[in-house]
Amino acid sequence: MTVGGLDSLLEDCTKCGLCREVCIVERLGAHSITSFLLGEDNYSSWLCSSCWRCQEVCPQGVDIHAIMMEKRRGEEPPPGHRTNSARVLQSGYALTIGEEINEMRRLHDLEAVELVPAEWINALLRGQEEQEKGA
Ligand code: SF4
Ligand code: SF4
Repeated sequence: MTVGGLDSLLEDCTKCGLCREVCIVERLGAHSITSFLLGEDNYSSWLCSSCWRCQEVCPQGVDIHAIMMEKRRGEEPPPGHRTNSARVLQSGYALTIGEEINEMRRLHDLEAVELVPAEWINALLRGQEEQEKGA
């Protein structure tokens, strides 16, 4: 929670709607934090390309990023986010990357990527846990 919380972050917002006008998520027909700023319930604080156009156009200098993070802290992330985080912890990659990636790369005359072995990732995670215990 930020000092002053959501209310203080929203203090300077005049609901002019400029942020929503430029938001790519909104242009694609979905609803981002910019819809929340205009007082709507039908939005997701997780739908965002991190382009920060909303922030750039805001005439009031509202910290839209901080508002988005504040909302995310209080909301359950979409299932895909948890799956990706679990995958990063297991394999070091957010996406499933296997030999099929290299087959696809070969078709495009690209060099093979060297995959980090899962045991290396586990060793790093174990090392971090041990460091935290020792701290
Ligand atoms: S552009 Fe700024 S002032 Fe206008 S609605 Fe968005 S956050 Fe509020
Ligand atoms: S940063 Fe996110 S909310 Fe802001 S304009 Fe870009 S996609 Fe929309």
